Amino acid sequence: MKKGLLIVDLQYDFMPGGALGVERGDEIIRAINDLIGKFDVTAASQDWHPEGHVSFAKTHGKKVGETVEVHGRAQELWPIHCVQNTHGAALVKELNQKEIDHFVYKGANSNTDSYSAFLDNDGETETGLDDYLRERGVKKLYIVGLATDFCVKFSALDALELGYEVVVIADACRAVYDEDKALEEMKQKGAKVAALSDL
Ligand SMILES: [Zn+2]
Repeated sequence: MKKGLLIVDLQYDFMPGGALGVERGDEIIRAINDLIGKFDVTAASQDWHPEGHVSFAKTHGKKVGETVEVHGRAQELWPIHCVQNTHGAALVKELNQKEIDHFVYKGANSNTDSYSAFLDNDGETETGLDDYLRERGVKKLYIVGLATDFCVKFSALDALELGYEVVVIADACRAVYDEDKALEEMKQKGAKVAALSDL
């Protein structure tokens, strides 16, 4: 069975000190580099927003952490982050990018956010990752990166929905708020949760 690795959003703005820094997010880079190259296919996603994106609090004149309604769903508002072609949106240079076969850009539409590397939050617009993996026969997808309770979780849930066998490598992820709750939700929907030492 072909195995894929999905590295979620290892970008400067999600590193400690970044615009939307995830605590201890830098600790997982080395572990991910050790994994890269051990899979049939490796893909990396990047949050890739235009200026004035719908997910930025400033766009709505609101505060970070407030919500607005977008496509009938609550959109949590974030600081300005991962603006296309800025340093904050770049993958961290310590990540071994030579072994990455496919790059996924998400949230590039002004009016829609995309936590998942597969589908925008409108549930309709595909990023092309599913086609890419399917064409290469990938059936089992290992997921690592940032953040466990947002982009990792939504990528995992979409991957399950799309029929992949999903393994989240918990200690190669870091969460914004609540890791345990996110891992539990992924498990309940059918994902396996593993540790680096299990591989
Ligand atoms: Zn974003």
